[in-house]
Amino acid sequence: MNRSTYKGQCFCGSVKFEVSGGPEGMGYCHCESCRSWSAAPVNGFTLWNPDSLTITEGAEHVGEYHKTENSHRKFCTRCGGHLMTDHPGMGLVDIFSAMLPDLDFEPGLHVHYGEKVLSIPDGLPKFADLPGDFGGSDQQLPE
Ligand SMILES: [Zn+2]
Ligand SMILES: [Zn+2]
Repeated sequence: MNRSTYKGQCFCGSVKFEVSGGPEGMGYCHCESCRSWSAAPVNGFTLWNPDSLTITEGAEHVGEYHKTENSHRKFCTRCGGHLMTDHPGMGLVDIFSAMLPDLDFEPGLHVHYGEKVLSIPDGLPKFADLPGDFGGSDQQLPE
């Protein structure tokens, strides 16, 4: 059983958190919302059981924005640095891979590749939206 603990913090360090165990899944999201939110052409995600996440410092500085009820995006109100996104429908929390520097990021798939602006020909499955297990069409696209 994996008992690892991984620490993360916002851009300024006011908010600190840790997760224990291992992620339920890791990959890349190409959706317009993630790109706009992260100001990047693609976003690395790691999905966790919400119980494995603890805000250890600066919880009072955690802001939250819901563009849709699928994604509750959280950030530091001091520095604007992004932290994590709750996905209430999935019962999982997405911690951006860049926020967990000690976690070996081992992506298994690409999601929302139908909205991509950057092609990543890495041989991993490319889902047009989401896998069927996550409520998507399960359709896969060429790289
Ligand atoms: Zn901060
Ligand atoms: Zn996304």
